[in-house]
Amino acid sequence: MNVLIVPGHGGSSKGAVSADGSLVEADYVLAVGVAAMRAAVDAQLPPRLMLDISRIDNDRPHGVRDRVRIAKAVNAELVIELHCDASKNPEAHGLRAYYWPSCRATKQLAKEAVEVAPPALREHNAHARPVSPDGYPRAYGLLQAYPMPCLLVEFGFVTSPIDVPVLRSDGMVDQLADLVLGLCRSSTHLGLSVSADEGSWDGESYLFGR
Ligand SMILES: [Zn+2]
Repeated sequence: MNVLIVPGHGGSSKGAVSADGSLVEADYVLAVGVAAMRAAVDAQLPPRLMLDISRIDNDRPHGVRDRVRIAKAVNAELVIELHCDASKNPEAHGLRAYYWPSCRATKQLAKEAVEVAPPALREHNAHARPVSPDGYPRAYGLLQAYPMPCLLVEFGFVTSPIDVPVLRSDGMVDQLADLVLGLCRSSTHLGLSVSADEGSWDGESYLFGR
């Protein structure tokens, strides 16, 4: 099983930034992804699990098309996109995991992500959800861009006064790295397949045409 860990954003895209500037999504998810790769070196991983990461710095362009190109180049069978969320509603908080509706394996992994999330990110409002064009168009477009199964994990909200201190707390990056590594491990037990769907990324916007 080839799994590609994709820390979202990077390059010129910082992603979401907390109001006080202390949490920058592109940096945070990079730290989690790199910590997962480091932990993988010492972990007893199933021999059939091969891990890659799409970036280890913020220096290069890392837009969706770059990420899809990398996923194809490493023959990824599963992509795990790492993000933090943002909302105009400061009460929105908690971990979210999104999967493609027709992909049972990533649905399973999304549920696992919620179940094993650190309690402070799990309690109250964590959930696993299928993406839909009207529910969360950006997530839908992102998952649609990949020609292989993709799981999107949003660790918490950079706009939440509850989540920001949790995300910045000691050891949280390593806990989230363990969560990601656990999902990689679990993926080896799942038959991954996704029904190909129509629609494409035209470089500007996602096309939802059917
Ligand atoms: Zn993001």
